[in-house]
Amino acid sequence: SPASARPHVLLLCSPCMGHLIPFAELARRLVADHGLAATLLFAAATDAPSEQYAALASSVPDGVDLVSLPAPPADALPPSTPVRERVLHAALSAVPHVRDTARSLASTSPIAALVVDMASVPARDVAVELGVPCYMFFTSPWMLLSLFLHLPELDAGLVGEYRDATEPIRLPGCVPIHARELPGSLLADRSSETYAGFLSLAKDAARVDGILVNTFRELEPAVGEVGTNCVKVPPVHAIGPLVWTRPVAGGVNQDHARLITWLDQQARGSVVFLSFGSGGTLTWRQTTELALALEATGRPFIWAAKRPHEDTADGAFFGTGRGGDDDDDPLGFLPRGFVERTSGVGLVLLSWAPQTAILAHAAVGCFVTHCGWNSSLESILNGVPMVAWPLYAEQKMNAAMLEARAGVAARVNAAGPGNGGGFVSKEEIVSVIRRVMDGDEATMMKRRIGELGDRATRALTMDGSSNLALAKVTDVWKSSTSSDEK
Ligand code: UDP
Repeated sequence: SPASARPHVLLLCSPCMGHLIPFAELARRLVADHGLAATLLFAAATDAPSEQYAALASSVPDGVDLVSLPAPPADALPPSTPVRERVLHAALSAVPHVRDTARSLASTSPIAALVVDMASVPARDVAVELGVPCYMFFTSPWMLLSLFLHLPELDAGLVGEYRDATEPIRLPGCVPIHARELPGSLLADRSSETYAGFLSLAKDAARVDGILVNTFRELEPAVGEVGTNCVKVPPVHAIGPLVWTRPVAGGVNQDHARLITWLDQQARGSVVFLSFGSGGTLTWRQTTELALALEATGRPFIWAAKRPHEDTADGAFFGTGRGGDDDDDPLGFLPRGFVERTSGVGLVLLSWAPQTAILAHAAVGCFVTHCGWNSSLESILNGVPMVAWPLYAEQKMNAAMLEARAGVAARVNAAGPGNGGGFVSKEEIVSVIRRVMDGDEATMMKRRIGELGDRATRALTMDGSSNLALAKVTDVWKSSTSSDEK
């Protein structure tokens, strides 16, 4: 059927690159494989698009309409407002724009559903007004979703603070979650606004008509299972792993081509790739220590580096943390002589790295990652074992699952203060990279992640678990729009 007559899915994503990337892939699949039309709305937090957003926007999938909504006024929030609150504010400010877009779309083609992310659930009102289902697309693992869905119950039963709990939280089918692995918002005082906001998000999350999760059954077999006493839980569908599948902005630009040529010259499985996601930053001292560790390994490496940030582990969240803006030398944050000494052996990238292309290259043998969920899924799909170096959000839970349950990662041991939960010494970095790349443990890890990657790929094929789950949902959406027309 012509695209204009197809039932339309409206997707709304808060200003998080880690959400927008799987949203774009979901939109692509809805259009390419499920006979729907898709408009993807991005609730921008700032007027000037980040380099990251521009990278994504320039290679948006065919048939997907990506629209950046107007950002809230720059002075709406005090400069010290934390990232989380900025994200929620942008998502809330987007609601009237979503309503306008929905109304104008509805005049030309039937709207089949509204799909929101965790932060943009307030837009559910628009779906209610239109009489269409509102689904959440949860871009983190089931384990975190399960924690959210159980939160009201946990909260009611808890005495004191989460951070002081001596017993781990045990969710059905998930690895036990120790206090030190909880997301930051849960570690805040329970009397704080941060915690209250989080709890109310968790309650809202349970009010949608269905939840799509970016995971796959073969990785998280308990997906959808909740404890018996739990509050109402909407139907949960594992539809992942949805990751970036297209060339990044100017994908085949010269730098990219040079990078791949360099990788072509490296031995199979020899290269260490390091990236801490779209927002992750290390302190100055940690950046120096990591650089010295890389030098000490003598292994070839590609490091998607960011300018250090002392205060927060998510200091580059809105894409402002790259390079040096008050420095003549953009690599000036690295130890003196590091670039010269490692020239030919390692590459330091300051701009948005073509991460999926790098991970897909046979030369890459280890991914040092902050365990953002997209990065974790990309590593799994490409069969690259990980050094897990979690920094913020739910990354410590992801790291625990990847190491203890899936057996495809080794966690760094952090001791002493540092952002994201501790300083990691040079000796520790060198040793954990060795664990992932050499010896029997490394061989096992490589085998397990190869098998898991195969299962991930299979989940997405026509008859795979994730594709069937999405097809079931889209069938419901489509049938409700066709009966509306009768
Ligand atoms: N990414 C990239 N180039 C970079 C940094 C990140 O392509 O230089 C992509 C990466 O492949 C992943 C996403 O950005 O798809 C980061 O998402 P993730 O969930 O891993 O972490 P977050 O950025 O949300 O912390």
